[in-house]
Amino acid sequence: MTDTLHIIGAGLAGSEAAWQAAQAGVPVVLHEMRPKVGTFAHRTGDCAEMVCSNSFRSDDDERNAVGLLHWEMRAAGGLIMQMADRHALPAGGALAVDREAFSAAVTEALRAHPLISFAPGEICELPGEGRWIIATGPLTSGALATSIRAATGAESLAFFDAIAPIVHAETINMDIAWRQSRYDKGETEEDQKAYINCPMDRGQYEAFIDALLSAEKTEFHEGETAGYFDGCLPIEVMAERGRETLRHGPMKPVGLTNPHDPATKSYAVVQLRRDNALGTLYNIVGFQTKMKYGAQTAVFRMIPGLENASFARLGGIHRNTFLNSPTLLDAQMRLRSRPNLRFAGQVTGVEGYVESAAMGLLAGRMAAAEMKGQTLPPPGFETAMGALVNHITGGAEAKSFQPMNVNFGLFPPLEAARGGRKGRKDRYKGYTDRAKEVFSAWLAAQA
Ligand SMILES: Cc1cc2nc3c(=O)[nH]c(=O)nc-3n(C[C@H](O)[C@H](O)[C@H](O)COP(=O)(O)OP(=O)(O)OC[C@H]3O[C@@H](n4cnc5c(N)ncnc54)[C@H](O)[C@@H]3O)c2cc1C
Repeated sequence: MTDTLHIIGAGLAGSEAAWQAAQAGVPVVLHEMRPKVGTFAHRTGDCAEMVCSNSFRSDDDERNAVGLLHWEMRAAGGLIMQMADRHALPAGGALAVDREAFSAAVTEALRAHPLISFAPGEICELPGEGRWIIATGPLTSGALATSIRAATGAESLAFFDAIAPIVHAETINMDIAWRQSRYDKGETEEDQKAYINCPMDRGQYEAFIDALLSAEKTEFHEGETAGYFDGCLPIEVMAERGRETLRHGPMKPVGLTNPHDPATKSYAVVQLRRDNALGTLYNIVGFQTKMKYGAQTAVFRMIPGLENASFARLGGIHRNTFLNSPTLLDAQMRLRSRPNLRFAGQVTGVEGYVESAAMGLLAGRMAAAEMKGQTLPPPGFETAMGALVNHITGGAEAKSFQPMNVNFGLFPPLEAARGGRKGRKDRYKGYTDRAKEVFSAWLAAQA
């Protein structure tokens, strides 16, 4: 067993971990329970399925922390980025992908790798022997979660995020809506017109907020806490926080001009982003929700342009399971009490597709090095990957530990480029320049 690395979960993290370890020459067995045992969010048996948005967020590697993470993963030969690039869709500065083609390509690459084999089925208990990476994600199966809890003695936290609805493009009324990326961002015309915009005047906005507030919502189960992750707040919760909150969030009207009525400034705008290569599906950006299905259809059809919309998928709520990593994991992402077990992905307390895949990349490389009798130190925390792993394995407050997106706040401050909001752009460029240098040196040391 010791000469084979076992990975549980072929999601974003497990797929990348398998690829990295196999590329380093280590045989890998990938254990995945789907499609035999499903989750409420996954729909296929494919690897690296994107369960909600089809976006890997900003691709700006000079001034954005997630864009920098893209850069680092590309530099490290990451499979997820390679396939995301291959199946990218126009998205005005963001990296959005055709989700089905993307997952199919990841699956095919893993299946074709001579050192990777698949062991279908659910793993119900934490393994005792051998080297393992556990990358079972926010929807870790109940049996395994119970076993993890028993072994760690620590309480896992559970809370809810929400899925944004997807609309059939042909049912959007383009006599009212129009195509435009905010501030016409993007290199090509396709990029500059990547979004469909639905305008609202003040009366329409107020009526929409009233409908959101009074819509029937899914109740939480007893004992479940509603500790929403702020980056993924349901729209009705945003509306509850203040009638203007949405107009300053996902419905902000800035950087957009309605060609049907250029002289009138929209009071609010709902944006939809392309969800597949064919351009037949669009998701409503930032509209995750826990309204009941019937209520959702009625409320979303109040949006001008969506009065006859047909929905390919309505929004929903979901559970998120993650470890208290700062207390449980060492800097090598190993369970302190059982160092033959590593954790990777969202279950470690990072949040998002990109962050999860990045933690898979790191865990795969670290495990492979260990199996060859070496120790691979994590990259310096001047890098996006290093900053994240440092945060979850010790940098974060254990008591108040919550899932974390990559952001420049996790990076050591750059003395030379301080200076408040004014110097922010230079500072971000300073961070990414420094990160690229440190990350390149980390990679070179492994060559
Ligand atoms: C409903 C929902 C919506 C989300 N929306 C977004 C979003 O829009 N953008 C974003 O960036 N992130 C989103 N996330 C977070 C997203 O899941 C993670 O960012 C990412 O998928 C995590 O990658 P992962 O590899 O850790 O987990 P996953 O991709 O979920 O992979 C875990 C894999 O482990 C398998 N598995 C679980 N238990 C077992 C077991 N016992 N035995 C064998 N296999 C097992 C699962 O089937 C799954 O394939 C969302 C999460 C959920 C649940």
